[in-house]
Amino acid sequence: SDKEADIVIIGAGGAGMAAAVEAASLGKSVIIVEKMPIVGGNTNRATGGINAAETSIQEQEGIEDTIETYYDDTFKGGKEENDPELLKVMVENSAEAVDWLNELGAGLTRVSLSGGATNPRIHTPEDGSAVGPVVVKVLENKLKELGVEILMETTAKSIIEENGAAAGVEVENVNGNSFKIHAKAVIIASGGFGANSDMVEGFRADLVGFSTTNHAGATGDGIELGQEAGAALDDIEFIQIHPTTDPESGYMFTEGLRGDGAILLNSQGMRFTDELLTRDVVSANILKQEGGIAYLVTNEEMKEENAALAGYIKKGYATECATLADVAKAIGAEEAAVVESMAKYKDAVAAGTDAEFGREHLTQDLSEGPYYILKVTPGIHHTMGGLKIDTTTHVISAEGSAIKGLYAAGEVTGGVHGANRIGGNAVTDIIVFGRIAGKTAAEELGN
Ligand code: ADP
Repeated sequence: SDKEADIVIIGAGGAGMAAAVEAASLGKSVIIVEKMPIVGGNTNRATGGINAAETSIQEQEGIEDTIETYYDDTFKGGKEENDPELLKVMVENSAEAVDWLNELGAGLTRVSLSGGATNPRIHTPEDGSAVGPVVVKVLENKLKELGVEILMETTAKSIIEENGAAAGVEVENVNGNSFKIHAKAVIIASGGFGANSDMVEGFRADLVGFSTTNHAGATGDGIELGQEAGAALDDIEFIQIHPTTDPESGYMFTEGLRGDGAILLNSQGMRFTDELLTRDVVSANILKQEGGIAYLVTNEEMKEENAALAGYIKKGYATECATLADVAKAIGAEEAAVVESMAKYKDAVAAGTDAEFGREHLTQDLSEGPYYILKVTPGIHHTMGGLKIDTTTHVISAEGSAIKGLYAAGEVTGGVHGANRIGGNAVTDIIVFGRIAGKTAAEELGN
C-alpha cells in the first residue's frame, strides 16, 4: 500500500545516504528507495579516497595545499568544461566533508598524492585501503541511528507530479508490486549510467564494446526519471574511461597504485607515458599500445605500504615475479627490454627527473623484487554528465528554471567534473552535494 514521508530519496549510494542523514537530522521523515539488494551502489567501488583541500589532516601532516589549487587542478583536469559555480561549491566544502565523515567514524587520516593533483590531497583510511566501503558503512550506521527507512529492492519507476511540483515516486518492489510514496520533495541520487551500454552508446557512438567498472545498478534510471519530469541534461557526452581495469572482469585498480610508485610497461617491456597524467590521457596512451593492454609494475616494498595492492594480490589479480626475467615472461616481452626499462627508471628516480616522460613524484625505484604485475586495459568508469542542477541541487528544467520539489546529487548530475573527473573527486562530489540536497530539501519543505 502507499506510503508517505516528507522527503523520498531515490538511491542508497553515498549521495542519497548523505542527503538522508542531513534531512533526518533536521527532523524530517525520510524514505530511501534502493533497487539493488545491497546499499552503496558505485560508492562501494570507490577504491581511491576523497579529495579535499585545507583539511585538518593536511595541516597535521604539514601539507601545503589551497582551495584555489584544488579548483585549478580540477578545472584543468575537466578541460575547463566544469560548471565553475558547482566546482566552487565542491572545493570550498571539501574539507568540511572530510571532517563530517570522520565525525561519523570514517577514520580518513592518511593523505597522499593522486593523478591530476598538484599536492597530496586524497584522503583514505590510515592503511591506504579503499574509501568507498568505509563511507557506506558509516552512513548506513548513522541512518540506522536516525531511524531512516530504506526500502530495499524497490525501484523508482516515475516521479509523481502535482501542480507542477514533484510530489513523490511510484515504485515497484522485488515481488512486482507497485505502490506510491507521497512526499513533499524528491531527491534523485540514483548514480550514473556506466553499466548501461545502450545509454553509453546512445550518447557516445565511439564507446562500443568496453567493459565497465560499475555495479549492475548503474543504469541511468535517474536521467530518464528526471527528463520525464522536465529536467535538462548537462555534459551528458562526457564519459570517463578508467585507465587501469582488469581486462577480463572490469575490476578496477586504484590510481593510488601509480601515485604510490607503480609504473606502466607495454607488452614490449617499454614505458610509454607519465603514469600520473589525468585518466583520459593515460587511458588514451594505453589504448595506443598493442592490444590496448599495459602492465602495472609494483613490488614487495609497495605491497607492504599499500593495503589496496595487498588486496589485489590476495584476490589473485597479480602475477608474482621473483626476477625481471620473470616479469618479461609475464608480459611477453624480451628480458633485455624489461631490464633496460627498469634500469632507466631507477636512474630517473635517483636523479629526481624522468627525462623520458616527465613524471614527477618519483618515489619508488622498483629496483628490488619480488614484483607484482597487473595486466590492465581502460574500462568505462564514470559518467560525468547528467541532470542539470544549480548550486543548491535544484534540478533545472529545459526552460532554465528550478523544478519545484525536485533535487539531485551525485553521479546522476552533470557539470561538476567537466570533461574528465579527477580521481578522488567522486566521493567529494557525492558527500558535498548529497549533504546540500538533504539540507536544502528539508529547509524548503512547505514552500
Ligand atoms: P552516487 O555515487 O551518486 O551516490 P551510487 O552509484 O553510489 O551513486 O548510488 C546510487 C544508488 O541508486 C545505487 O545503489 C543504485 O542501485 C540506486 N538506484 C539506481 N536506480 C534506481 C532506481 N530507479 N530506484 C531505486 N534505486 C536506484
